Parts: sequence; structure tokens; C-alpha cells
Amino acid sequence: MPNACKLAAGNWKMNGLRADLLEARALARAFPSPGCGILLCPPATLIAGMAEALRGSALMVGGQDCHARESGAHTGDISARMLADAGARHVILGHSERRADHGESSAEVAAKAHAAHGAGLVAIICLGETEAERDAGRTLDVVLGQLQDSLPQGAGAANTVIAYEPVWAIGTGRTPTRDQIAEVHDALRDAVPDKAMSLLYGGSVKPGNAAEIFAIANVDGALVGGASLKASDFGAIITALDAA
Ligand code: PEP
Repeated sequence: MPNACKLAAGNWKMNGLRADLLEARALARAFPSPGCGILLCPPATLIAGMAEALRGSALMVGGQDCHARESGAHTGDISARMLADAGARHVILGHSERRADHGESSAEVAAKAHAAHGAGLVAIICLGETEAERDAGRTLDVVLGQLQDSLPQGAGAANTVIAYEPVWAIGTGRTPTRDQIAEVHDALRDAVPDKAMSLLYGGSVKPGNAAEIFAIANVDGALVGGASLKASDFGAIITALDAA
């Protein structure tokens, strides 16, 4: 079975001004030839500037969302082709903050992922249960249901990455136990149509817990929010992934 690629992906969410590109430059200097993929997903306003700042480095740039259509009357939205044109290689889709704040369904996520693939982007599709769903014993039902409904036709390891992000662990400082992460990642590995798809864990990954998380089978990397904003913190997480 081919190995999945290791990936450390940073989600800057709605954080970052042009001055913060120095963090991306510092990271590029620290990892001239990393043993894993390194991706930064800044807000849309910084994608082109970050791609320019990282030109010639090993680091990649991605978006945080895209529209399912290529162009048209969709004020405020950005198409996958526009992201690619700005220098993005990946796009995060179906993050729980978008599912909650913008009512995005898995069917919409699948349509966006289809558009991303059409533009040559790798879609990072986010899945995860709420605390109430976990407490009700529905974690695997929810996550595997989201997987089935969010994956477009033609999804494979070359164009799709899966990020398991329990909603209750995002930005809270709480992380699941090793066994809880392993249970979901093992089930995802069984369920994905291409066994070489990278499976990322996301939710309060920090320099202090990264090595332990990366030691879990079927965890191929992380989607990191708060700890990706500073090159020193994200660099420590990348070093842990490199070593795993
Ligand atoms: C995220 O935004 O995808 C995330 C995992 O955030 P944090 O690392 O801050 O929990």
C-alpha cells in the first residue's frame, strides 16, 4: 500500500496583515528542504503576497474556502480558479467554522471540492463531530457520514486530503485522547476510496502535544489554527512531524 504524504497545514483563519508575512518568510528560512509538506492558508487578502514571499521556497500557500462556481454574480466570494491564479495550491473546505457560521452542508462541500479539483487545487476536506454528538456516541456515524457526502467523484490522494477536526477541540485547548484519535483515523483509513489519502488531525495541536499525536497510526499530519500564526510554534510542530 503506498504511504500517505505527511503534511503540516496552517490555517490562519481571519488573522494576519501584510506585516505578518515575515512569519511565513521565517518559516521558509527555517525549513529549506523539509521532509514533509508545509502549507500556510492565510486570509484571501494575503494569498498572492504570501505566494510571492515564498516563491522559490519549499512552502506552499492555500485558501480557506472557495465558491463552487467558476465566476459570476456572487458578491464577496472567490472561485477556485482565482485562488490558483493568486498562487494557491490547496484550499480548506468544510471547516466546522464555515459549516456553523455559513450553514455549509456536506453536499456544498462536495461541490466546492469538485470545483477545486477542476482548478488544479488539492481540497482539504474537514470533518468532525460536536461535543453533543460525541457524548451521544455518534462520532463515527457523523464523521463517516460527512466523509461520504463531502467527497466528490474522482477524489484521490493526488487531489484530496482529509482533516479530522473534532469541533469541541478547535481553539479550546482540549484534545481527544490517543485512543479517540486512533479510532476515528483507523475508521477513516478504511473508508477513504484511496488508501494513500493523507489524514490530518486538527484541534488544539501545539508544540507540546504534536509528537504524541503524530505517533498515532494513520495520522499523517495536522491542520493547525492558533499555533500556525507564529513561525516558532508552527516550526516546532513541523519538526515533530518531520521526526515522526
Ligand atoms: C483549525 O482552525 O482548523 C484548528 C484546528 O484550530 P486550533 O489549532 O486553533 O484548534
